[in-house]
Amino acid sequence: MAKSQNALHGEKLMNRCTRCILPDTYPDIVFDSEGVCHKCHEAERRYVHRDIDKLSRELLGIVNWAKSQKRRYDCIVPFSGGKDSTYTLYTCIEKFRLKTLAVNFNNGLRTEEALRNMDTITRNLGAAYLSYGPPWNILKKLYKEFLLNTGQFCFPCDMGIWKTVQRTAEQYDVPLIVSGFSAQIESRGSKIYSYNNRLFKTIAKNVMSTGELNDFLSEAAIAQKIARRLKRFRLTRYRRQISLPEYVVWDDKIIKDTLYRELNWQKRADGSSDHIDCLFAPMKNYLVVQKWGFGEKTTKYSAMVRASQMTREDALLQSTEEERRPIQDAMELFMQKLGVTNEDILHAKTKSHLGYL
Ligand SMILES: [Zn+2]
Repeated sequence: MAKSQNALHGEKLMNRCTRCILPDTYPDIVFDSEGVCHKCHEAERRYVHRDIDKLSRELLGIVNWAKSQKRRYDCIVPFSGGKDSTYTLYTCIEKFRLKTLAVNFNNGLRTEEALRNMDTITRNLGAAYLSYGPPWNILKKLYKEFLLNTGQFCFPCDMGIWKTVQRTAEQYDVPLIVSGFSAQIESRGSKIYSYNNRLFKTIAKNVMSTGELNDFLSEAAIAQKIARRLKRFRLTRYRRQISLPEYVVWDDKIIKDTLYRELNWQKRADGSSDHIDCLFAPMKNYLVVQKWGFGEKTTKYSAMVRASQMTREDALLQSTEEERRPIQDAMELFMQKLGVTNEDILHAKTKSHLGYL
């Protein structure tokens, strides 16, 4: 039953943007008279005409400011052993000579490749490295609860990463946080995936205590606002948080070449270099395909086409092939680790996170 439905969904002929490859099933998509989607126009406004020289100067200003604070560490990089966070760590240390602390959130789902990468790379770069993770029994309950209620399970990990990074920055009094998250390439759109404290709390409190929630909840918006005010009046220490891809050219090919050449970075056994850091990555993508008829590669490659890092033809070919790859082993592992059934997975597409935001 599940199989025939998925096959049907996959076969359904979709109309796509004539510039990128986003299909007409993408939430709230709008096409102009030439068939170009609104995400393409948005990207043109935000990224295509970016003044990279000006951004580089700005970035250098931030780097020098962090160094001038003269702390034990100049910056923290949230580190998973994946491609983007590894490249960010490399840039902070090798290019900017920042005293960098790599901080990893142990989500209970780290792959062997990711663990090996974290070890080799922190050693090769001479980076300080710290990892923290809540007990697996808590994470397991959370992933399951989020799957059953929202149809997706990534929220606890995303919340945990930021909380761990912020807590560590506080503890070591680190002035700068530099992440490798590229909104331009990685964002899937808020209708597909987005989160906040409220969503997390509403669902998580079914399965965990208030104390346990502390590993995940960031400061509330109001507290952040007060903190910003105090900082403006210099009553507390100032901390900055930036995404490196907002300041530099974030080119998948350049990143991969650098990692293989300079750092002996390892991809996954199946040859994939995306999301090598999570055992459940194939399931995350599967749930998106099941619900929307297209997966993460479609949104990612669309962004890469807009950024002239890929041709539209290659994007179509590769996304079709990669999104239909069988994931039987990954699904069995997922069911066994979380104690969920086929039925639960099938029901995921009827659920949404939007009502909780
Ligand atoms: Zn488009």
